Amino acid sequence: MTIVENGSEKRELAGKRALVTGGSRGIGAAVVRQLLDAGAEVLTTARSATSTVPEGAAFVEADVRTRAGAEALASAARDMLGGVDILVHNAGGGQPYKDSAAIPDEEWQDALNLNYLASVRLDSLLAPGMRERRSGRIVHISSAAVLTPVGPFLHYTTAKAALENYSRGLASELAPFGIRVNTVSPGRVATPGGEATREEWARLALAPGQTNADDTTPLGRDGRPDDIADAVLFLASDRASWLTGSNLIVDGGEFPRG
Ligand code: NDP
Repeated sequence: MTIVENGSEKRELAGKRALVTGGSRGIGAAVVRQLLDAGAEVLTTARSATSTVPEGAAFVEADVRTRAGAEALASAARDMLGGVDILVHNAGGGQPYKDSAAIPDEEWQDALNLNYLASVRLDSLLAPGMRERRSGRIVHISSAAVLTPVGPFLHYTTAKAALENYSRGLASELAPFGIRVNTVSPGRVATPGGEATREEWARLALAPGQTNADDTTPLGRDGRPDDIADAVLFLASDRASWLTGSNLIVDGGEFPRG
């Protein structure tokens, strides 16, 4: 979207510096593309570079599950962008097991590191710069599956539920500094990660009710990465200037609302 400022047109996020985790494919790549289209300068990361990293984005390899990875990424963001105005925590995921008892200890730890602690660590490194500038937008990507958690996937939904609680608390803490913190919770979206999860669900032949992989959504189709990126871009823009601590559920109406 272009906006008119002092009589001249400019792209909505021109001059903004954005960091997106997991931007090499799926939802993250769509977010990177939309941020670039809106005029932002974008740095993204994944564990390895691929040809699907959107052209025009800077890329660094980092594993966000570790403190060392978060520190390397934060320092790359300071060196390459000079600071971060928009921080999108998108890297995440997990595979289902037969039931909750089958989830190994290390998978619980891994799920917490990837889907929850990665955001906590990176926020703690980059939010202080936003506080100094008294401006910033942070978006956490959770999952609508938190609304109906099931045993085979509890490591993942528990970590995302913690992320949502943390995101609301961080929003209260940072609001006085002009920093908005929000969550987007996707339903099922056609991405490499989403498809792999659904294939594994099918392979395990889980009982009905243990999986949401069977039907489509009330709106008649699965999500596209750009459906989620649209919500992220809205939250990152001034159009959401009075929104903080919210959770946008973008799922085609699939999951029950409280
Ligand atoms: P994909 O698996 O398709 O893409 C994940 C991206 O994150 C890739 O770029 C991947 O690159 C990167 N990534 C994964 N692990 C790490 C890591 N440890 N460190 C750095 N980067 C990493 O995922 P989706 O696009 O499907 O999902 C994006 C987000 O949306 C996730 O948080 C997911 O939980 C959430 N979500 C997705 C849904 C769906 O149906 N697709 C539904 C609900 C929520 P690499 O592997 O090279 O590191």
